[in-house]
Amino acid sequence: MRTTQFPLNTVKETPADAEIASHQLMIRAGLIRKLAAGLYTWLPLGLKVLRKVESITRAEMAKAGALEVLMPALQPAELWQETGRWQHYGPELARLKDRHDRDFCLGPTHEEIITDLARNELKSYKQLPITYYQIQTKFRDEIRPRFGVMRSREFIMKDAYSFHVDQASLQQTYEVMYQAYSNIFNHLGLKFRAVIADSGSIGGAVSHEFHVLAESGEDAIAFSTVSDYAANVESATALLQEQSLADPTEPFAKVATPAQKTIAEVSEFLGVPTQKILKTLAIMRKTLDDAGEETEVFYNLFLRGDHELNEIKTRKIIGEFRFATDEEVEAHHGCRPGFIGPKLDAEYGQLFDHSVKYLADFVCGANEAGFHLRGCNWTADSHTRTFYEKALAGGAFHDLRNVVAGDASPDGHGEITLARGIEVGHIFQLGNKYSAAMKAGIINEDGKNQIMLMGCYGIGISRVVAAAIEQNHDSRGIIWPAKLAPFEVAICPMNMHKSERLKESAELLYQDLLAAGIEVLFDDRKVRAGFMFSDMELIGIPHCIILSDRGLDAGTFEYKARTTKDNIELPLTDVIAIMKEKLASS
Ligand code: ATP
Ligand code: MG
Repeated sequence: MRTTQFPLNTVKETPADAEIASHQLMIRAGLIRKLAAGLYTWLPLGLKVLRKVESITRAEMAKAGALEVLMPALQPAELWQETGRWQHYGPELARLKDRHDRDFCLGPTHEEIITDLARNELKSYKQLPITYYQIQTKFRDEIRPRFGVMRSREFIMKDAYSFHVDQASLQQTYEVMYQAYSNIFNHLGLKFRAVIADSGSIGGAVSHEFHVLAESGEDAIAFSTVSDYAANVESATALLQEQSLADPTEPFAKVATPAQKTIAEVSEFLGVPTQKILKTLAIMRKTLDDAGEETEVFYNLFLRGDHELNEIKTRKIIGEFRFATDEEVEAHHGCRPGFIGPKLDAEYGQLFDHSVKYLADFVCGANEAGFHLRGCNWTADSHTRTFYEKALAGGAFHDLRNVVAGDASPDGHGEITLARGIEVGHIFQLGNKYSAAMKAGIINEDGKNQIMLMGCYGIGISRVVAAAIEQNHDSRGIIWPAKLAPFEVAICPMNMHKSERLKESAELLYQDLLAAGIEVLFDDRKVRAGFMFSDMELIGIPHCIILSDRGLDAGTFEYKARTTKDNIELPLTDVIAIMKEKLASS
């Protein structure tokens, strides 16, 4: 392509709403343009990169034996009602009505649609296992669309779905897909990790996420320092590190903490480290009353002051909940949040994080505005002892907290370290969640009707482009991994419009590179050399050939890689061979 026919839409200004490098660079390099919140147009240069992610993905899906289909974005509500997700999916589901007043949604994912297809098309165990996939537009009315195409409302996903007669077959395809995903992210040239994940609202038991490692990632991931254990912090297990309870050394006392409400404030004011403070959280747990009606009940959760509540793990234990309002807290504790603590006579539920067991000489709220208790010891004063014994008897100790660096790895090997990641892929063993609800069965080997098992496998194709930039850029622009670059080589002739000879050489080189099957961008604009170079760096072309009259005199060209600072002079006669070699080795 020539820049006169393939205009670069580079811009100098960074949009005000672009918080992270990839978003800024995608706008500045002219890959995308914003239409409205969470909606983006892909410009020609950006689309070239997006298509490369798609084609690498397609090739690996084909190798994994998956069959490509294309399903509608608009989906009838009836199918979503069959699985119950019409009610449960929440406001992220973009619902609409057609002209006949029938309910539809714009698909955020396609389990219902593929399961409907499978129950109609698949009749016998002999047709299984089978995996379908598509690369298609998804809609999610995200509460906070941000970071450009990283978290947008409309995006391109590769979604695959597999159907099985038994768990062994599901497990086998899951492993094939796990490998295919690893291959895809390796081919893309990205630093990534597969981590154990929570299967969230999609359902099922076993699930892994694939994360591109980047500081700006929205997810925290936990790794072992020595083994291959890796999990999203959302689901990483915090092991109870058994220890002995320290002997009390401090007398029990009620102390005034007039304005100290947060753990940090109390810690500073009393000179007690945060790990020696008991944090009391008040929640309203959703449950059913005796008549089977939905209701909410008050609960206390207790954690060590230096630990954070893990809502996902906690929901697995007690189901849905929300944090209590100040009024609800006051009704049960007699004071506002900030001063609340364990209540001996509590008639509501209480859950403790494991690590709370080993607190000694600790501080907690006194259930009285402006006061805390210090010198609390589970075994010393009768107040806390009785409370502790009740808790132990009630078996209310669980893993409620996020892992932190230095925790023992749950597999028993090494310690946890933390890193940030961008979730680019997610694979699940769904089991029969959708197939049972939608009665997707086949005739099995014994001639009996049987519900199929399912797996599902997603890649955020458009998010991958942003994630690749997030991981590979510098102050001057994007540094594309070789397989993602929109063009492999750029020709930058200096002052070509003043030299007929240079123009001819550049033209010849362009034709030769094209003939060699190289994707080349010929910058034939009438612009200053410095402007040309900064554009090429911004859009991240890996290899740049600089031609000049001076070079022609000496029979040389200047070569500059996107990753190096300096140019090197090389013989012009070898240019094709040199470029072929550079491309083969990148
Ligand atoms: P997230 O936790 O980031 O919201 P998710 O768990 O909702 O992701 P899945 O339902 O597993 O995502 O979707 C499969 C893939 O689609 C994700 O791994 C991610 O790469 C991509 N994806 C999900 N939501 C978006 C979005 N709003 N914009 C761009 N890509 C997305
Ligand atoms: Mg989501």
